[in-house]
Amino acid sequence: MSDKTVAVFIDADNISPASAVDIFKHVRKFGEPIIRRAYGTVKCFSNAEGWQRAQREYGIVARPLVCNVPGKNIADIALVIDAMEVLYKSSCDGVCIVSNDSDFTALASKIREGGKEVYGFGGEKAPMSFRSACTKFVVLPRRSIETQSNEKRPSKCPRCGEELIASRTKSNRNCRTCTKCGGMSAKITVLKNIFSEEGLNELLRRASEYEKNGCVCPDCGSAMSIVKVSSTGSSVEIDVCAKCKTVWYDKDEFEALLPNDGVLQAAVSAGKAYRRELVAALAADLKSKRLKVPHIGVLKNVLKKIYHTPQPDIDPVLSTLMSQKIIKIESGTGKIVVIG
Ligand SMILES: [Zn+2]
Ligand SMILES: [Zn+2]
Repeated sequence: MSDKTVAVFIDADNISPASAVDIFKHVRKFGEPIIRRAYGTVKCFSNAEGWQRAQREYGIVARPLVCNVPGKNIADIALVIDAMEVLYKSSCDGVCIVSNDSDFTALASKIREGGKEVYGFGGEKAPMSFRSACTKFVVLPRRSIETQSNEKRPSKCPRCGEELIASRTKSNRNCRTCTKCGGMSAKITVLKNIFSEEGLNELLRRASEYEKNGCVCPDCGSAMSIVKVSSTGSSVEIDVCAKCKTVWYDKDEFEALLPNDGVLQAAVSAGKAYRRELVAALAADLKSKRLKVPHIGVLKNVLKKIYHTPQPDIDPVLSTLMSQKIIKIESGTGKIVVIG
């Protein structure tokens, strides 16, 4: 154990409380951690249990900060201010900065110029400049830096500031909606049933090249780009985040993109006829043993990969197969028995 002392600053916006064990294992090699603080938005401390444990077991003091403007790194700024204070006012020999994707290169350089050591901690994707500005950089195991991506994100409506509510699109995919203005955010993959893969790649390419003059991404806080897209006659301007591949739709924009065309409609959310055909085909294939599926998981995969069944249709198809007594699924094991 070293007779030196260090201050530990954790950027809690992108570091999980579970990382404490890994962090302090290393920190103690560099010195006795006399200051231990974690900075983040109120939202990122919503994993209250995890942070309370980190506080109990490692004495980490959580510094939740109220974010008034979405997308502003108030936690990073607070961390920098406190680290500078340590540099000038405390007798610590070193400063540990724990962050996964924020760039604290300038801070690290400043602290070293001030005569103290800087120990960086972070994931594989920590910027090279930051790593080399540190006296030493410790790569944390992946489990340490995986925070619950949906919980930590600022999820305010970029138009009216209302909290976004988790919901489902018509094609039964995850999205978040604003009950006040009717806007919606969803990952770009939700458009998979509407546009081809090339179409989606083109959309992302434009989003990354266009000026970032759209709204603030409700998922990652970056500025989004406005991209015009058309589908079956209607065209809308959507806000696309090239960084985290999130799309923001103002009220009715998403619906405007949904195809009216019967064939495409079936692909978005297959109707009863589609399911009936699919069940008949499956029944024939299962009974003739052309299709062998030992397990419910395998059948789901087969439906998805081979029969190209849209996700929202998979469960209804399975229950029809059972209600029509074509298959039986053993409860508990998930084993499939073909009847007859
Ligand atoms: Zn809104
Ligand atoms: Zn984003």
